[in-house]
Amino acid sequence: IKIAVPKESELGELRVALVPDTVSRFIKLGFEVLVQSGAGLGAHFTDGDYQAAGAQIISSADQLWTEADLLLKVAPPGEQNGQQEMDWLKPGAVLISFLDPLGNPEKIQALAQRQITAFSMELIPRTSRAQSMDALSSQASIAGYKAALLAAASLPRMFPMMTTAAGTIPPAKVLVIGAGVAGLQAIATAKRLGAVVEAFDVRPAVKEEVQSLGAKFVEIPIEEDTATKGGYAKEVSQNTQERIRQVLTEHVKKSNVVITTAQVQGKRAPIIVTEEMVAEMDSGSVIVDIAADRGGNCACTEPGKDICYNGVHVIGPLNLPATLPVDASQVYAKNLLTLVKYLVKDGEFQLNFEDDIISEACVTYDGQLRNARVKEALS
Ligand code: NAD
Repeated sequence: IKIAVPKESELGELRVALVPDTVSRFIKLGFEVLVQSGAGLGAHFTDGDYQAAGAQIISSADQLWTEADLLLKVAPPGEQNGQQEMDWLKPGAVLISFLDPLGNPEKIQALAQRQITAFSMELIPRTSRAQSMDALSSQASIAGYKAALLAAASLPRMFPMMTTAAGTIPPAKVLVIGAGVAGLQAIATAKRLGAVVEAFDVRPAVKEEVQSLGAKFVEIPIEEDTATKGGYAKEVSQNTQERIRQVLTEHVKKSNVVITTAQVQGKRAPIIVTEEMVAEMDSGSVIVDIAADRGGNCACTEPGKDICYNGVHVIGPLNLPATLPVDASQVYAKNLLTLVKYLVKDGEFQLNFEDDIISEACVTYDGQLRNARVKEALS
């Protein structure tokens, strides 16, 4: 099987699907690996590093895509010089990438029409069996870490308490909203930097995890069911959302930093921090809204921008994992290696659709759309 690794074409995407270490592992397993020239430069891997690992370097993008039996990518296929990258793939090729299948189902339909077998990294089930293939988690963890660092670097005061000869400096107060993978890592990082941290999530199940990191859980009794069977948050009713806002208003007001990470799969991120809440914060406070990729959790967030609202610094970063491309690529490549080893037996793809990992992550096969949620998103 010929694996191809393209240079990511999306603006600001510095990650690469395979790092030299995973290339050599694939080669030991009997795969051939083609890497587009310059594919690893954003993550500080040179063509020479890939060649030393056993890859063949290909200079043109369309040649690389055309030769692929299996194309491994980070961002969904895009456009180059007016041409759709996916049109370069040969029918029957396999594509594994983040594909934003619920946000852009038309692209998935186009892949089916082109007879591409596509696996969406967003749809790998969040089970213990699939943990080592779970790229949403590996990347969210990096985003949560970076969000806490951005907050610390932007705050005009320090995170830790300091007792000095010139007096005592109190610790910064950090509120994390959404305690999934990114939120938990943001809590852990802010704690390590010395802040006093509290956190809220609609899923009460995360309370213990929040507490085990040394943070306080903000309790808001919620009467409706807030989690799906798969453990994801459900969209809560307007009433519940209003109650949450009421309770959080006081917590936001007394925080120096608010880090928001709340997402509902396939939907716009819920607005949790309103303009009124931001207006009540002290001047110099910071909001880092890592749900900005999905519209943001704060009404003042402008995705991709840093703005100042009444003296409050509101940061809406896009694609935070790409700001730490070395480690983000390293763990993503490991996720891909585990998945491909799972799909390929005796040098061939063997797709057993009875298997939950395969049946959930495979979005197109044999010219057909396979995933019910993608079909629903299309209609
Ligand atoms: P996510 O990125 O989809 O959402 C982030 C957090 O926002 C979630 O914790 C969610 O509950 C919360 N949220 C949603 N709406 C909210 C609101 N209105 N107010 C406050 N918080 C809100 O979440 P994720 O990090 O991808 O995790 C999703 C689920 O997958 C979790 O249950 C997590 O434990 C689970 N998971 C399991 C595994 C595994 O078993 N291998 C691995 C990773 C994640």
